[in-house]
Amino acid sequence: MSKMSPRPRRAGLLSSEALDRSRVLDTLVNNLQGMAYRCLNDQHWKMIFVSEGARELCGYGSAELVEGRAATWEELTWPEDRQRVRAVIQESVRSGRRFGVQYRIRTASGELRWVHERGVAVADEQGEIVVEGFIEDISAQRATLEALEQAELRYRHIFEHASEGIFQTTADGRYLAANPALARIYGYDSAAELVRDLSDIGHRLYVDPGRREQFHRLMASQGEVVNFEAEVYRRDGLRIWISENAHLVRGPQGEFLCYEGTVQDISERRHYQQQLERQANHDQLTGLPNRVLLGDRLEQGILRARRLGFYMTLVFIDLDNFKFINDSLGHASGDELLKEIAQRLQGCLRASDTVARLGGDEFVVLLNDHYRVSTVITVLRTLLQEIARPVNLLGRDFQVGGSLGVALYPNDGDDAQTLLKHADVAMYAAKERGRNTFQFFTSALNRVAEERLSFETAMRQALERGEFSVHYQPKVDHRRKIVGVEALARWFDPQLGSVGPDRFIPIAEETGLIGALTLQVMREAFDAARQWNRGRSVPLRMAVNLSPRLFLSGEIVMQVAQLLQEIGLPPEQVELEITETVFLEDSARAVTILKQFKELGVALAMDDFGTGYSSLGYLRHYPLDIIKLDRSLVTDLEREEEVAMIARAAISLGKSLRKTVVAEGVENAAQFDFLRYQGCDEFQGYLLSRPVPRATLSQLLEAGGDYFPVTADDTDPSV
Ligand code: C2E
Ligand code: CA
Ligand code: CA
Repeated sequence: MSKMSPRPRRAGLLSSEALDRSRVLDTLVNNLQGMAYRCLNDQHWKMIFVSEGARELCGYGSAELVEGRAATWEELTWPEDRQRVRAVIQESVRSGRRFGVQYRIRTASGELRWVHERGVAVADEQGEIVVEGFIEDISAQRATLEALEQAELRYRHIFEHASEGIFQTTADGRYLAANPALARIYGYDSAAELVRDLSDIGHRLYVDPGRREQFHRLMASQGEVVNFEAEVYRRDGLRIWISENAHLVRGPQGEFLCYEGTVQDISERRHYQQQLERQANHDQLTGLPNRVLLGDRLEQGILRARRLGFYMTLVFIDLDNFKFINDSLGHASGDELLKEIAQRLQGCLRASDTVARLGGDEFVVLLNDHYRVSTVITVLRTLLQEIARPVNLLGRDFQVGGSLGVALYPNDGDDAQTLLKHADVAMYAAKERGRNTFQFFTSALNRVAEERLSFETAMRQALERGEFSVHYQPKVDHRRKIVGVEALARWFDPQLGSVGPDRFIPIAEETGLIGALTLQVMREAFDAARQWNRGRSVPLRMAVNLSPRLFLSGEIVMQVAQLLQEIGLPPEQVELEITETVFLEDSARAVTILKQFKELGVALAMDDFGTGYSSLGYLRHYPLDIIKLDRSLVTDLEREEEVAMIARAAISLGKSLRKTVVAEGVENAAQFDFLRYQGCDEFQGYLLSRPVPRATLSQLLEAGGDYFPVTADDTDPSV
């Protein structure tokens, strides 16, 4: 056969090339996996030529297929697919374009196979239309694809029907995918709506935006979060609790793709847990903490007091008339009374304090963060007052008293058991002393309480009788010319003698007497200022001290305004001195009040500057006009370099903020000269004058004594 004959390499190039080509084609065609064919475009697809691949494809050899000897291609084609295949091929015959079609055949052994046929209709050598093409077995691919589709379908099913929410999100908080359950949990009608609407997860979803930060951090450090619980907003604004399990998905190069995970609504569980906790720790009737929770708070309170060096106070309360009311009016009224008392007790306390009910008519109060016994006494008195207020039961008013037993940490014991025992003992002592009273466990404290009580009574009387007076201490400028005075309260009691403001001001603050006292001082001081400034070309400024609690009460602005008007003193002639403690609790509120005072037209001074917690932050932002350097920055500055340094820094800070800087407690010329040299504007202290009565200062001013004299040891060269 010509195909087999060896050929010289170059001779007869054309003919040998033609030969080669048909041989190569032959080999190719017969070695292909699949069947090359030519058939008639007739009813049976009668084969004219099939390649050797036929046997592997359909189980018939080429001799059996050609001319349809054993079977025609029409017969091999799966009956249900025949019409479709024919339509495809006929369309190709009509258009002259290539076709491709997938269908099933039945092999000689009866097996079902998927094939892919590609071909084209052409005219043969006689001009008749024949179909030529190639058919290959794609059963294996089909199976894989189907398996994939099945799998995809199954996963989709899980995704769509899961009861847990499933999501994919971006790092910046948008949704890539969400399932219907997630939409349901977050209150959306559909997953698509959720994906569209919910962007910025960190702020729109989490109640605490910090939670999203934590989520990011955990993802960054561990690549996953497990049972991550958070409170979130539903679409309707309702808050629910969820638990998330999620992980970070990376691409083939390790790049971040998305977060992916599940969400469960655990609100009910949370709610139930909280309820259980409440029940275990609270008294059913009053809702107050019970013995269990009290024990816990006691331990914490002791630790806190130990750390901060405060007192922790334990108060045992026993109602005096409870048994009588309970027996005569019935249990319902008894319960009513207990609830009422519980509420009142709670109303007396700060958030950090605790009232517990131990059962029956026994209550316990825990006071934290007191550093003076006198403030504890104030609270005890309020408690007694509240208990003694009449209670309306069955339409009648009843008076119930209380006996309070008080134990203090660390004085009366340093563990919970001892303190409870001692408070109990003290409570019995209170009962013995009579109704509606308190007793400390330590007798020395009872003495303190009594002294305190009589001190307070004396103060009240002094206020009523107008026995408080005011002294005035001049302030001078650098030439020692008087520019203002500070009003300082004085109290002389016939029994107690002269009592200094350092003693009576704190108690006035605690008892609320400070309001009345300050108004008396102001009335006096404003009146004095008006008298002194009559006919003065440059008026003196009158400085009055405002204690923090009074300042923050807010009513004071109105009261000052009224008083100024009543007395007829221009607001510009008044300075109010406050300390930085006013910024400690609620600085926003403090600023509001400062602004109201500024609107009124009075000047504001920061008193005791240099003793507080911070000195910079608030100065810049708050509307203050004057800074008064505390005496501690002045005393000994001529002897101690460190004091001088701090004073110098404080002055330059004040100057750079454009405040008037005043030095207090200037006692000698060295201090005066140093401060003046550093740029201090005004000076106050014994060097110039002690606080003096109004009459004394009046005399001085009338005698034209605007300048304070240089004394013997005074070496100021400029005067
Ligand atoms: P403060 O506002 O810092 O008043 C200055 C205190 O320093 C006054 O004491 C004054 O007598 C004293 N002082 C003045 N110059 C010198 C000096 O050169 N050397 C020394 N060692 N001391 C000097 P005072 O009058 O005993 O007042 C004590 C504090 O009581 C005042 O301190 C003020 O915080 C408060 N206070 C006085 N009167 C009132 C008032 O009417 N209302 C309020 N809320 N507090 C007042
Ligand atoms: Ca002052
Ligand atoms: Ca001061």
